[in-house]
Parts: sequence; structure tokens; C-alpha cells
Amino acid sequence: MKILVINSGSSSLKYKLVDMEKNKVLISGSCERIGQDGSFIKHRRYDGSHKEVVENLDCHSKAVLQIKKLIMDSEVGMIKKLSEISAIGHRIVQGGDLFKGSVIIDDKVINGIKSLIPLAPLHNHAHIQGIKACIEIFGKDIPEVAVFDTSFHSTMPPEAYMFSVPYKYYEKYRVRRYGFHGISHRYVSSRFEELTGKSLNGTKLITCHLGNGSSITAIRDGKVIDTSMGFTPLDGFMMGTRTGSLDPSVVTFLQSKEGLSPEQTDQILNMHSGLLGISGISNDDRDITKAAAAGNKRAILAQNMFIYQIVKFIGSYVAALNGCDAIIFTAGIGENQFSHREKICSNFTYMGAKIDLNLNRTMVSGKEGKISSDDSNIDIFVIPTNEEWIIACETKNILDEMK
Ligand code: ADP
Repeated sequence: MKILVINSGSSSLKYKLVDMEKNKVLISGSCERIGQDGSFIKHRRYDGSHKEVVENLDCHSKAVLQIKKLIMDSEVGMIKKLSEISAIGHRIVQGGDLFKGSVIIDDKVINGIKSLIPLAPLHNHAHIQGIKACIEIFGKDIPEVAVFDTSFHSTMPPEAYMFSVPYKYYEKYRVRRYGFHGISHRYVSSRFEELTGKSLNGTKLITCHLGNGSSITAIRDGKVIDTSMGFTPLDGFMMGTRTGSLDPSVVTFLQSKEGLSPEQTDQILNMHSGLLGISGISNDDRDITKAAAAGNKRAILAQNMFIYQIVKFIGSYVAALNGCDAIIFTAGIGENQFSHREKICSNFTYMGAKIDLNLNRTMVSGKEGKISSDDSNIDIFVIPTNEEWIIACETKNILDEMK
């Protein structure tokens, strides 16, 4: 069974063709700069053969049409007829409290995702474009499934998901914590179960997705009890360009001092803050690391703030869970920045967490495994995330349920 996984953004569209029996990504690619000048597609087959197509992609349909040609291409493709694709799985960022699990896409679901656009304007609008393009180009005979980034977090209790603003805003606008990166947190937690053979039932996990966007989740018995991202992915701790949580008065103060509109404020908080805003160098942790090593004070401050805020989140989730059996690191920074992992974990020696320094240093570049020492009271793991795999599995599950 082959499933096409689509992750559609406003100006990019990533795709993977997954072979479910072999648990293998056959094809991966990315359409960039959709709707802009200089659009192109990078396409790669599992055996290394690849193609770069420079093409005017003025809309998502044009991008999906090129994807169809590439996956059926005689040199870099994998299929001869469209019917070899069993289904298409779409990553959808915001499912609100409408979608607590994955669903087969029909007009009602499209309207539901549309109704949530005010909660995730850029993302959900782009997802609709991706879904419509796939229906247009691949036809209605191939089932399409929506897999939501928020649904893994739908088990949070109200005391974790409510914000202490007047209750009427929850009733009127559904203002609450939704959480994001759920597909990634779900993958690493279920992979932990596979790797260790320890059931998630009765286990307390803290999963740290540290990338350009970052979030931390507390999981008990396989169910999320709290997560750092909130109403939008801006909440939580400092990220590449996002602030994370801050005193809300800072926002109203800056708005009045600088005469900022809501849109300008949004730009500053989402695009010009975080590691970039503090360092003034880059949102990319590799650049910050280089600058910090060369003694740049703001780069050092940016990294110290990042690590400190992560430590505080993990600590608060140890309290919320009343203990912790394992901490898992994933995503670009979590999978590669061993010195950050070392610094973060050094704050949890009070509860017997011990990192194996040699193991930790070698667990980079896509390696998966335990980095805690044998006498550590808790397990510490690096598990490279694989969101496409969860989307493909969910899509397959929905197909199986339909049979
Ligand atoms: P996103 O998917 O949120 O865009 P990623 O998960 O790709 O982000 O993570 C991007 C971050 O990971 C960047 O800050 C980058 O510096 C860091 N990163 C990626 N690869 C490495 C690496 N090999 N060594 C150190 N940091 C890395």
C-alpha cells in the first residue's frame, strides 16, 4: 500500500510517498515559492536519483500537477498508474475542538477546516488550497484524509487548556490552549514504547520538540495532559523567531509606545523575536552557536535564555505529572544539539537524571537511542521525529475503518 503525504503551506508544499508494508519513504520532495517569482521543485527518490524542476507554480494546483508528473516519471518516479496510490494524507495544523481525531475528507470536513481559519489564518487557508488541488489533480477516486496537529492534545483537561480571561471569550471565540506539533509528540511517544517495550500506560513522559518552532508536552498513560504551545504556536518558550510566553503587558505597552497595529505586533512577536530577536544574528541555532563560540554576548544570552526556559517548562511538567519516567528530545535542535541536551539535563540531577556524556555526543544526525546512563533514575532519549509516518499510518487506519 502506497500513501501520499502532503504538507501544504502558504508558499510551499512538501510531499512524501510512503510504502506502508516496507515502512519506507519512496519519494520525498518540496515545491517552493508557490505564487512567487522563482518557484521550483526539489524531488528525490529513495535510491538517491533526483530532479530539480524550475517551473512557474502560480498556485497549489500547478504544484500538485508537477508532483503527479514526478511520481509517475520514468526516471525519478515510483508508480505507473494513479491507482497505485491508496490514499492521500494531509497534515492540518488547526483542528480546533471540532476534530479530535483524523477524518476522511468530504465537503463537511473542508467546511470545518475553513471555519477554523480565524484560529490559524495562514496554515488552514493553505491546507484547504492543498486539499482542493489534490482533489482536482488526483481525482475523487483516491480517498483523502485529514490528520490534525492539534488532535493528540485533545485529551488535555480544562484546567490545562483554559486561559484565565473572561469565560465569555472561550464561549464566543473558542479562545483556549490547543497545542501544536501533536503529530510529532505522538510519534516520539509511541516510538519510545516500541524502543523500550515499556507500556505508555502508567508511564509519565515529557517530550521536547526543539526545532525552529518548539514545544514541550507532558504525557501520562499515553495521553497529553499539558503542552506549551497555546491558542497559536506563539505560546510556550522562546523559539527561532517567536517570543514564547511573555507578560501580556509587554504587548500592550509596545503597541501604545510604537503605535503598532495588531498585524505589526503579530509580525514582531512571530517573526522578529526569539533567538533572532535577542541575538540579532539569526533564527538558526547553528549560527547562534558559532557566534556564541566566538564570544558574541547576545548570541550567548539568546542560548542561555532558550535553555533556561526549556528547563523551566520541563520542571513545571515534572510537577504537573508528579514525577517523570522519561524525557525525549526530537526535531532539529533536539536531535543534534548535544550540548544543549547536556545543559538541560544537568538541571534534573535532583531527581536522579543522569546523561551518559559519550552516548549523548554520538546521538546526532538522525541517530535514535537512549542517552541516559544505566544508573539514571529516568530514561532520556533522542528520537528523530517522523511526522509523515504518523500521517501515513492514520490515513491507513481510516481506510481500514471504511472497509
Ligand atoms: P522546523 O521544522 O521547525 O523548521 P527543524 O526541526 O528543522 O525546524 O529545526 C531547525 C533548527 O534545528 C535550527 O535552529 C537548526 O539550527 C537546528 N539544527 C538542524 N540541524 C542541526 C545540526 N545538524 N546541528 C545543530 N543544529 C541543527
